[in-house]
Amino acid sequence: MSTYIFGHTNPDSDSIIGAISLAYLKNQLGEDCIPTRQGNISAETQFILDKFRADVPELKTSVAGENVYLVDFSDKAQAPKDIMQATILGIVDHHKLGDLTTDTPLECWIRPIGCTNTIIKEMYDYHNIEIPKNIAGMMLCAILSDTVIFKSPTCTKIDTKVVKELAKIAEIEDYKALGMEMFIVKSAVAGATARELTTRDYKEFEMGSSKLGVGQLEVVDLSVFDNIKNDLFEDMKKLKEEGGLHSVLILLTDIMKEGSQLLVVSDDESKIESAFECKLENSQIWLDGVLSRKKQIIPFLQPQF
Ligand code: MG
Ligand code: MG
Ligand code: MG
Repeated sequence: MSTYIFGHTNPDSDSIIGAISLAYLKNQLGEDCIPTRQGNISAETQFILDKFRADVPELKTSVAGENVYLVDFSDKAQAPKDIMQATILGIVDHHKLGDLTTDTPLECWIRPIGCTNTIIKEMYDYHNIEIPKNIAGMMLCAILSDTVIFKSPTCTKIDTKVVKELAKIAEIEDYKALGMEMFIVKSAVAGATARELTTRDYKEFEMGSSKLGVGQLEVVDLSVFDNIKNDLFEDMKKLKEEGGLHSVLILLTDIMKEGSQLLVVSDDESKIESAFECKLENSQIWLDGVLSRKKQIIPFLQPQF
């Protein structure tokens, strides 16, 4: 029986590449593992897969009765609906501990560092397994993506060290240039619908008895949103209604200016204002220095609920 490895819903590059890199490691260790995904991949992830000639993992949204490893999440809200009927063999993650529980012992590699693929690199080292050149290149890209080319406050010395090691294996000299190339691909909004943009990197969280949706779009220049901000707000309202959510927040992150424009649709804006000690104007505010949802947004929202 094969074991399936996958990341969170609305998968980002870390979730997709993490499934691929962990599956390769596990297969080398004699386990029969298949990387999968819970949804469509982003243009950034497609760019990485094309560059290193790798296949898109198969789509799998139901896992009842299966053995699974989770990468890049441990929240039920980001899992397949029938996750509680699967056997979770392990979790590799770098987020807050979520609300998934297990009936059987499991392998856990959870650390407060910049990227799941950094942890997976350490797993390769721990097991003394060589990383193939193309997988090293993809892992490097995932780390550059998650750490916003080392600018994110989530980035640690371990992440930068691991990127250097992976760059050697992948024979990539200017990895920062590769990171910029990737973020330019990520910045493209032309032709995308409002829904594609609001959900491109979108996660839902249970907080107290409320549910919140928090999306993020990381771009090299915020002016790409000038003409579509109203469409984004309209779609955030729809997302909120469809999901019965208390609030939908979208971070428009400028990776060059190193901050985020926060857009808010909420039953109670004052909760968001007290979370970030700010006053919203037209349901938005510039948050200087804010790049990370997991470290600079979620921990401040949670106590409000
Ligand atoms: Mg992720
Ligand atoms: Mg990640
Ligand atoms: Mg991210």
